[in-house]
Amino acid sequence: MFEYFTCLNDEYYLEFTIKRYAAHNGVTDQIHQLQKGDELIIRDVWGAIEYKGPGYFIAGGAGITPFIAILRQLHKDGKLAGNKLLFSNKTAEDIIYEEELKIMLGDNVINILTSAEPTGETGNKYLYGRINEDFLKQYVPDFNDHFYICGPDKMISDINDILVKHGAKPDSVVFEK
Ligand SMILES: Cc1cc2nc3c(=O)[nH]c(=O)nc-3n(C[C@H](O)[C@H](O)[C@H](O)COP(=O)(O)OP(=O)(O)OC[C@H]3O[C@@H](n4cnc5c(N)ncnc54)[C@H](O)[C@@H]3O)c2cc1C
Repeated sequence: MFEYFTCLNDEYYLEFTIKRYAAHNGVTDQIHQLQKGDELIIRDVWGAIEYKGPGYFIAGGAGITPFIAILRQLHKDGKLAGNKLLFSNKTAEDIIYEEELKIMLGDNVINILTSAEPTGETGNKYLYGRINEDFLKQYVPDFNDHFYICGPDKMISDINDILVKHGAKPDSVVFEK
């Protein structure tokens, strides 16, 4: 199980953001039953997702979590300009940190929902569809950029394949291998 800290390095506490899959009866469900004073043993701390420069953060659902501390740090340092977030969720209710991401990134966050598009609504703030080849061709003008991908395994591999096909350098596409 991968969990990235979502707090900044200089905070006095550790923060995790963990989606609960109650039906799986597994570790995420157990973690949500922790009580104040319980202890966690953290070991083998490692991870490959690190910031290499401005580009596109592409997240699916709870896959936003490894990007949170990076985006918060860039925001704090005034260095978030030039970064975009393409964030796919099934429904609007699934969007984690929607408000904070909007405050940090403004128009540079694009929320795309895979649920059916509501009919009869005007001025909807979400896009509907999937982050696929057509979507990326439309929203990524330059594939010669940095890309950070996290989400369901298949999403990571599908999007990586599309990016590389359109000229992204494998070294510039960051994800947990
Ligand atoms: C390095 C790493 C760190 C992680 N850290 C955490 C963590 O700290 N906390 C945590 O809770 N989880 C973490 N995860 C878990 C992981 O991100 C989620 O379990 C996974 O993204 C599924 O989340 P979900 O149920 O919200 O996604 P879903 O709701 O199943 O999917 C999210 C969106 O992705 C879309 N999608 C799915 N497949 C594709 C595809 N092939 N192409 C395009 N779009 C697709 C879906 O349609 C949907 O809109 C981590 C995973 C990795 C790889």
